[in-house]
Amino acid sequence: MTRWRYAAATDTGLVRETNQDAVFVDDSLAIVADGMGGHAAGEVASAMAVEAIYNSFLTRPTVEGLLSGIQDANQVVLSDAKENPERFGMGTTVMVVGLTHDGPGVTTPTMLHVGDSRAYQLRDGALRQLSADHSVAEEWVRLGRLTSEEALTHPRRHQLTRAIGVDDNIEIDVMSLHVQAGDRILLCSDGLSNELDPAHLAELAGADVSLDTAVSNLIDAAKASGGRDNISAVLLEFDEAHEATREINSTMSAAPPPLEATVSSRQRRRGPRPTWRSAVGVIILAAVVWAFFFIVHWYAYSTYYLAPAGKYIGVYEGQPNGVLWYKPRLVWRTGDLMADLQPAARLSVKATIAEPSIVAARNYAFFLRGLYLSSRTPTTTTTTTTVVTTTTVATAPNSTTSTTVTTPTTAKG
Ligand code: MN
Repeated sequence: MTRWRYAAATDTGLVRETNQDAVFVDDSLAIVADGMGGHAAGEVASAMAVEAIYNSFLTRPTVEGLLSGIQDANQVVLSDAKENPERFGMGTTVMVVGLTHDGPGVTTPTMLHVGDSRAYQLRDGALRQLSADHSVAEEWVRLGRLTSEEALTHPRRHQLTRAIGVDDNIEIDVMSLHVQAGDRILLCSDGLSNELDPAHLAELAGADVSLDTAVSNLIDAAKASGGRDNISAVLLEFDEAHEATREINSTMSAAPPPLEATVSSRQRRRGPRPTWRSAVGVIILAAVVWAFFFIVHWYAYSTYYLAPAGKYIGVYEGQPNGVLWYKPRLVWRTGDLMADLQPAARLSVKATIAEPSIVAARNYAFFLRGLYLSSRTPTTTTTTTTVVTTTTVATAPNSTTSTTVTTPTTAKG
C-alpha cells in the first residue's frame, strides 16, 4: 500500500472578492481546482469538478475512474453552462493525485491534470515540478518558441490552452508518480505558484514543520507577496510508497483500455505493424517470386530435342535432364522405330541435341525418317515423290524450313 498524510488550505487572497478555487483531500485522493468565470460561475465550476471526480473515484478507485471523473466534470460544467446563460463561459482547472489500484491490495500515486494548476515533488529539500502548464506561454516553451525564463513574464502565461468546461473533447495528462517514503508532493493553484518562486516554495513546503504549519506558511507567504489571486495548496507526505507496475505518462482523451487489453495489445505489437511499406514489400516479394518461377519455367521448356520414347523416336519439350522439378515432356511420338535407324542416326538421337524450336525438332525427325526410308527402299521416282509429298504436307503448316529438310530426300531420290 501507498500511504500519505495530508494538509490543505485555500484562501481568497487580498485582491479577489470571492474564492473560486476548490480543494479536496483525503487519504487516497487530492484535488485542486481553479475556477474561472464571472458572477460566481468560477466557484460553481470548480466545485462541480471536485464533486464529479470524487464520486467517480469513490466507485472506481483506478486511473480509469479518475479519467472518467474528469470527463464527467467536463460534461457537467458544459451542460450547466448551457442551461444557465449567466454562467456561460465558466471553466476550471483540475490537478488530481489519486492512489490508484494497481493490483490486488496495491495502490500507487497517479497524477492527472488539465490547466495550469501545478504539482511539485519535494525530496531532501529539492523541488521538482511534475506537471506541465496547459498555457499558451508554456506550450510555446515546449515548442521552442520561448525560453522558460521568457515564459515567466510572458503576457500569455495565464491564457489556458486546456480547461474543464470549454469543449466536449478534453485532453488529460496522466502520469504515474515515482515517490519514496519521506517525499512530499505539493498541489497548488496559480495563486501560489505565481507569487512564490521555486526556491521559496521549496523552502516553505519542505520545512521541517507539521504539514498544517507548512501549508499555512505557504498561504501567508503568497499573500505577503501580493495575494493577487485565490491561493490553494495541498501538501502530501508519503509514509510508504509503491512503484506503478503499469507505468503511465501520456495525454489521454478517453479512458484507457483495461489492463488485460493493454497487455495483449503490447504483445501484438511485438510483430511489425502492417503499414503501406510492408504492403509494398509483400507485393515486391510476390513479384520477385513470380518472376523466378516464370523464368525457371521458361528456361525449362525453352528447347526441344529428340530422344527415344519407348521403341520409337520421340520429340521432347524441355531440358534433357530437367530443370529443378520441371521434367521434360513428350510432345510427339513419331511412328518411326529407333531400331530402324542407322547406328550413326541412332547415336545422334541418344545424344539429345537441343533444337531451338518444336519445328526444328520435327524437321530433324523428318530428316531422320528420310534417311531411313532412302536407305531401305529402292529408289523409284514414284516412291520418293510420295515421301516428299507426305513430308511437305506434314511440315508445311509449321514452317518454311520444311522445304530445306525435304531437299536431301529429294536429292537422294
Ligand atoms: Mn487562479
